[in-house]
Amino acid sequence: MYVMQALPIFMNIAHRLCIVIGGGEVATRKVTMLLKAQGAVTVISPALDHELQAMLEAGEIQYLASTFAPEQLTSACLVVAATDDEAVNEAVSIAAKRMNIPVNVVDAPALCTFTMGSIIDRSPVVIAISSEGNAPVLARYIRTKIESMLPAAYGRIAGIAGEFRDQVKEKFATTQARRRFWERILNGPFVERVLSGQEHAARQLLGELIAQSEDAHTVGEVYLVGGGPGDPDLLTFRALRLMQQCDVCVYDKLVSKEVMELVRRDAELVFVGKSRDQHTMPQEEINALLARLALEGKRVLRLKGGDPFIFGRGGEEIETLMQHGVPFQVVPGITAANGVSSYAGIPLTHRDYAQACLFITGHLKDGTVDLDWQAMARPNQTVVIYMGLVGLAEICQQLIAHGVSPHMPAAVVQQGTTQKQRVVVSTLSDLAAAVAEAGLKPPSLTIIGEVVQLRERLNWFTPMQSD
Ligand code: SAH
Repeated sequence: MYVMQALPIFMNIAHRLCIVIGGGEVATRKVTMLLKAQGAVTVISPALDHELQAMLEAGEIQYLASTFAPEQLTSACLVVAATDDEAVNEAVSIAAKRMNIPVNVVDAPALCTFTMGSIIDRSPVVIAISSEGNAPVLARYIRTKIESMLPAAYGRIAGIAGEFRDQVKEKFATTQARRRFWERILNGPFVERVLSGQEHAARQLLGELIAQSEDAHTVGEVYLVGGGPGDPDLLTFRALRLMQQCDVCVYDKLVSKEVMELVRRDAELVFVGKSRDQHTMPQEEINALLARLALEGKRVLRLKGGDPFIFGRGGEEIETLMQHGVPFQVVPGITAANGVSSYAGIPLTHRDYAQACLFITGHLKDGTVDLDWQAMARPNQTVVIYMGLVGLAEICQQLIAHGVSPHMPAAVVQQGTTQKQRVVVSTLSDLAAAVAEAGLKPPSLTIIGEVVQLRERLNWFTPMQSD
């Protein structure tokens, strides 16, 4: 497990003393970066290469022709060591640390108290990427990708937005209304005008849009979104977009941690369900909560595991919204049966084995497992059982009693599509015992049918199995 090794911060160094030890090419790179951020740079080195010499002559930097001594650092706001002498670099690091001055030593992460990351400059928008020293090439690769995604004019958009900030603040009373205004602006013709170089027209348009907007109370909206089975890569574009613009997120246990990471940081999070039978908010209360939040004007993300319309009670939730006249939209997700079967290498249909597939819930509303056994026992089909872990032994017995071969291949997949995916493959008669022995826990999906044997050949996904 990786944890964050450093807190990304943006430090204001304008007109403050920044000391660079070293006078070569590497030092030049660092000096250039510091000057970009308007640092007052002093270079300390016995000699300067020609580029630094030129900067000195242009009056861009100060220069102290000297070897390093700790007392030189007094009153610096940061220090960079960029010499080719490891002993000097280390001495700089030790001295700076002792004086509590942030220090960066080029190519020696262990000696640094800060690093600068790979930078994309669309000032006033600045993005810095760090791989915490693990993969600088990857960081640069990511940088190139982001560079190509962000037109240079994005900085100008931020600049113009800054000019209108006060005006917008005056017009809209709440941060929520302001955010909504800006989101509308950023999705509209204003951006196009800036991007196509018509900045004057863009300013005029923005002024008009502010004047025309109403700061009235608006009804919010509910986004009923399928978060998929766990792997965040399986989200839809629309799901991700709505996840990043909601005010509140109402979620339950099934939504994976990795998917939750992608919900807008500032959104209020409301947890409405632990595992089976434990402290789950009653469905009626969830329905009412969604309607109430939306009527307060919020954009409510109702985030569910898998697909909201497959064993997800999505239908019940939007019925209540309908009754209250709350606008909503439904975003399908990859349901567990799809995601889990793919990642377990078990095709749900196959020309030789299964021409149909049943999705069944193993947990009925009244707690029994009274299913349509005859339909489930038909040949040439695959049966997928959601929420069936508790009743697994009974389900298998009943199927055998209704004519399915005890040797029928069957599998249970825990936390499918995630790095914790576990798969137990067995036969109908031995499945429950094998699952108990392996200690599988919810969420787990059961797949029964001839197709399960295909896993032997088609298994492609190897989770990291970290705990
Ligand atoms: N709406 C969801 C299903 C909710 S019912 C969907 O479309 O997937 C909850 C059940 O889904 C769990 O008990 C389990 O059987 C199944 N499930 C959901 N995610 C799963 C996963 N990642 N791995 C295995 N089973 C999963």
